[in-house]
Amino acid sequence: VPNAQAASHYTITTDTTFPPFEFQTQGGDYRGIDMDMLKEIAKREDFTYTLKPMSFNAGVQAVQAGQVDGILAGMSITDERKQTFDFGTPYYKSGIVMAVANKSKVDSLDDLKGKTVAAKTGSSGAMYAQRMAKKYDFKITYFNDSNTMYNDVIIGNTVAAFEDQPVMAYAIQQGTKMKIVTDPADGNWYGFGVKKGDNAELLKKFNEGYAKIVKDGTYDKIVNRYLGEGG
Ligand code: GLN
Repeated sequence: VPNAQAASHYTITTDTTFPPFEFQTQGGDYRGIDMDMLKEIAKREDFTYTLKPMSFNAGVQAVQAGQVDGILAGMSITDERKQTFDFGTPYYKSGIVMAVANKSKVDSLDDLKGKTVAAKTGSSGAMYAQRMAKKYDFKITYFNDSNTMYNDVIIGNTVAAFEDQPVMAYAIQQGTKMKIVTDPADGNWYGFGVKKGDNAELLKKFNEGYAKIVKDGTYDKIVNRYLGEGG
């Protein structure tokens, strides 16, 4: 029967830059744990996709507006998001840390009183910062991407950034002149997201493909590619 198994095609969004999960190479390709994983899953599940990188917040909204089919962007599975998203199998454990410029003397939430911190619009780091801002009496400036947020802290406009631990640690290891000063808070897992009630087929394929790459060792190989053994 011709076309009985016509390959499905999807549009998937990711963050503009969120290494080691997604980042653009000099050649313009998107690589990273999420991107390599998606490629391997698509291969095994026989689907194709167009990648539409955009700011994390725009990506979240694009899924809800039905402009894209799914989001793979180090997106944290939270109870609040479960109201409007269906998530795939949790694949990476994360948590929120506070990071400051290398030479900063700020090293706890208590030191933030009366100051301004940086957070990424729509991120779980921003939601955490909002909760802490009330308790510790500080202000928040919002950014659309992680790089701009780090730079704002490094140049001293804001005194700290709230970011996902694996992403902040990787940036520092790659030369970003900041240091992490708190233990991870609000532990959460990353998951592939689709609009709630929509795209069950894509979600099923993603999960099946994910199970396959975990089983055959490809997932560990991908993580090790960016984070080394034990990453
Ligand atoms: N994990 C965080 C969240 O889901 C940040 C994701 C991101 O910035 N790409 O909000």
